[in-house]
This record gives sequence, C-alpha cells and structure tokens, in this order.
Amino acid sequence: MSNPSTPLGVRPVRAFTDNYIWLIDSPRVPGRVVAVDPGEAAPVIAELRRSGASLAAILLTHHHPDHIGGVPELARLGAVPVIGPDDDRIPGRTRTVGDQERCELPDLGLAFDILHVPGHTLSHIAFWGHGALFCGDTLFSAGCGRMFEGTPTQMNASLNRLRGLPPETDMFCGHEYTEANLRFALTVDPANRAALEYRDSVARLRAAGIPTLPSRMSLEIRVNPFLRCDATAVRASTEAHAGRPLREPAEVFGVLRAWKDQFR
Ligand SMILES: [Zn+2]
Repeated sequence: MSNPSTPLGVRPVRAFTDNYIWLIDSPRVPGRVVAVDPGEAAPVIAELRRSGASLAAILLTHHHPDHIGGVPELARLGAVPVIGPDDDRIPGRTRTVGDQERCELPDLGLAFDILHVPGHTLSHIAFWGHGALFCGDTLFSAGCGRMFEGTPTQMNASLNRLRGLPPETDMFCGHEYTEANLRFALTVDPANRAALEYRDSVARLRAAGIPTLPSRMSLEIRVNPFLRCDATAVRASTEAHAGRPLREPAEVFGVLRAWKDQFR
C-alpha cells in the first residue's frame, strides 16, 4: 500500500452524546471538506456555516444509524459522492469500495486505502491515507467496538491489520469512549505504565472538554488491551477471568471482548 504522508487538517463535529463526525479539509481546495460517518446532519451543517466550508464528499465506515443517519439531508445540500462499503443497509451510496481498493478524490487531493475490517459489523471498512486512519467503530482509543456481527477470529484479525499500520498513524474513531475504555484496560493490565500515564492525560483533556482523539497507533499498541491479546499480562488476566487456559490470541480476544461487555 502506498500512503502519501501529507498531514491532514481534520476537525471533530460532535453528534448525539459521544459520536464524532470527522471533517477532513481538502489539501488542494481550501474550504472544501469531506465528512466521515455523518450520523446526523444538523451539527455538520452548523459547522459548515460557521467555517464557511462546503461539503465535497461523504465517507462511510459502516451501516449503523449513528454513522449514516445524516446522509440524506447532507446529500440534498448538493450532489456529493457518498462512498462506503458494499452493504444494502447503507442507502444513498454513489460509490462502493472494498478491501485493498483505493478511494481517490483527485479533485480534492485526497486518496485513501480501504481495509475491510469485519467484526463490529460484517461489512465494516476503514479508510487509511495521509497518515490518518478513519476506523469507525472497529478500534477505539484503549478499546474496540462491540462484536455485533463478526466472530472473535474475524475481529481479532481486523484489529491486527490496524495494528500493523505505521506507528505514527493518527487514529480517528467514531466515539469518545477513551476514559471508560481505560478503566477496563487498567483492570485487565493494572501495571501498564503507558496506560496509567495516558489515563492522567485523558482525565485532564476530558475535564477541559477537549476530545481525546485522534490517538496514535504507537500509543494504542502500548495501552489498548484489544491490540495486546498476545501480551503476557493481558493473556494472564484474561485466563484468570475465564478460569481456564486460552490457547490462541483470538481466543483471548473473544473472552476479553465478552468481559468488557459485562464490565461496569
Ligand atoms: Zn457502529
């Protein structure tokens, strides 16, 4: 995969209680932006008005309503490409992209490689380019999405693919779950120094109302238990939780994900 390393201008638009819709500035045409996973239209329209920008394209990672709900209203603003995975549950798509394809928006100076990352949903994709990853609800900072449709083997493989991206990749996910995720991460891996330090910086950001995202892949590899199913500490505490030995990292992942589903 090739990956131009132009740093992207990306800003968050808050939606619902904890969603982020990401607006990517065109590096080529000032004032043209691409919206990622617009679950609702109103906050995007408000941000476009506030900044004087116009919408040039919509990228969708998966079919859940809190990621696609704003598409019909935003599409009425003007004919923009709506690019997403091959899934009939996503109405209004003008272009379908699949694994290892390249999503090019040449007029805007943007290009992303597509990774199919099943697990949260079966057709979930991620967009990777310009040193940035837009991964919807597959990977969160210090956590990962619920496994609604896939198997542990599938989702663990998807997360391993994301873990294999360059460590300097900025990770833009769909929700502000970092603080709660770190509570679980530190229950699984209480002596993880990087996670303890991250918890403190995240607490400061949240107290100031600042997003904890984007995160960086190099950090996630150190603090995110779902990217560390092969780490001794994560495996040991997951085995203790399960009360049995776990042979494969995918098995560790499955137990860890189920543990998190119950965790309060
Ligand atoms: Zn989702």
